Amino acid sequence: MRIPIQSVTPECGHAEICGWVHEVRDLGGLAFFLIRDRTGIIQVTIPKKKAPEAVLAAAKAVSRESVVRVTGTVKAIDKAPGGRELVPEIFEIVSLAETPLPLDVSEKVPVELDTRLDARFLDVRRPRVAAVFEIRSAALHAINQYFHHEGFTNITTPKIVAAATEGGTELFPIAYFDKEAFLNQSPQLYKQMMMAAGCEKVYEIGPIFRAEEHNTTKHLNEATSIDIEVSFADHLEVMRILEDLIVRVYGYVNGTCSSQLANLEITNFPLPKAPFPRLPYGEAIEIAKKTIEDPIRYGDDISPAAERAIGAEMGGHYFIVDWPSEIRPYYAMQYENDPSICKAFDLMHPRMELSSGAQREHRYDRLVHQISRKGLNPGSFEFYLRPFRYGMPPHAGWGLGAERLVMTMLGLSNVREAVLFPRDMHRLVP
Ligand code: ATP
Ligand code: MG
Repeated sequence: MRIPIQSVTPECGHAEICGWVHEVRDLGGLAFFLIRDRTGIIQVTIPKKKAPEAVLAAAKAVSRESVVRVTGTVKAIDKAPGGRELVPEIFEIVSLAETPLPLDVSEKVPVELDTRLDARFLDVRRPRVAAVFEIRSAALHAINQYFHHEGFTNITTPKIVAAATEGGTELFPIAYFDKEAFLNQSPQLYKQMMMAAGCEKVYEIGPIFRAEEHNTTKHLNEATSIDIEVSFADHLEVMRILEDLIVRVYGYVNGTCSSQLANLEITNFPLPKAPFPRLPYGEAIEIAKKTIEDPIRYGDDISPAAERAIGAEMGGHYFIVDWPSEIRPYYAMQYENDPSICKAFDLMHPRMELSSGAQREHRYDRLVHQISRKGLNPGSFEFYLRPFRYGMPPHAGWGLGAERLVMTMLGLSNVREAVLFPRDMHRLVP
């Protein structure tokens, strides 16, 4: 019976392990192998004079990163990883790896990201890369748990849609029988419709598709969005949910992923504290004006340079609030006393935007008016507008990028490191 490498101790006496050949060393009379599975590494030592013929033959034929099955005697030894080694009676090559390998799994040579992504199956064998995806998994677990605990319903909305969420041009068209269809850029319209359906608190963790032609370290063409929508809530209430969630996720990762954080050499994991500062958009622009060279005015989008300058000043997570209505989507609710600004917000990490949200306009006539004001045709949003005519509660929500959350949490330099098989302008394979 195979046992996980981590569980092999001298007390086992005898053990069978399966794993990948991590390293091979030949010292004349002795051959050493390091064998790795996802739980750890063990040294396999073969005394050439005493070992069975079949063991010697396999040991000679095997290459690094092949899969092997080894059965033998466990001995305590100071110098080996975990203070034990395995002396084999059986050394079976289960699956031989070709040489040379497309990339070095034992991490001695730095590798270009493109090479790593081309051979992702080998890249993820490296403990520090596997750690990113184990932490991503833990973070998503904490998020699911949080929403479940808070009484949210987990929903799944269509990714094949007939209309754009925001009427932009950032959509991938697809062939859908004889109709025009697109991959959805956001579950926005659907989660809002679920407010009319009386669901009150919904969340979805799913793919979003953006046909944006940028080539940056924080944009993907297929990303994972964590979305919520809450009835009878305003923007302030969903901001509190968002900061509470961020604090919980960091806390959960800190509490449950110590070995993964160690693999990533993260020694002082930051623990954000709520409430996060609320910075009005106008003040954010003033900070940017003082620090960046490019001209920036009230009413502009916040450029990446401005984002970094404001982030440096703020130090930790913060919200930008009170955005000009002009630069936010039609569904954001405007302030009653000053319709030039709206109840929209962005959650920011000092490095970049993590989330956008707002209290939504739930009043039919105003929503139609706002759609027209953006130069869009309300007629093409009929499926979305219809629920607003039959009892739509006030509501608010946000969308949070899962990859950006993981990237900023772990200090990764490129968002592609936080997704297994990234999709960007130049990458459709593997
Ligand atoms: P940005 O201005 O940084 O391009 P955005 O404002 O276009 O982002 P939203 O439409 O507000 O993005 O989407 C909500 C969140 O989803 C973003 O804050 C981000 O975390 C994530 N997200 C959106 N687009 C992408 C993308 N192309 N790649 C990775 N994450 C994304
Ligand atoms: Mg945004």
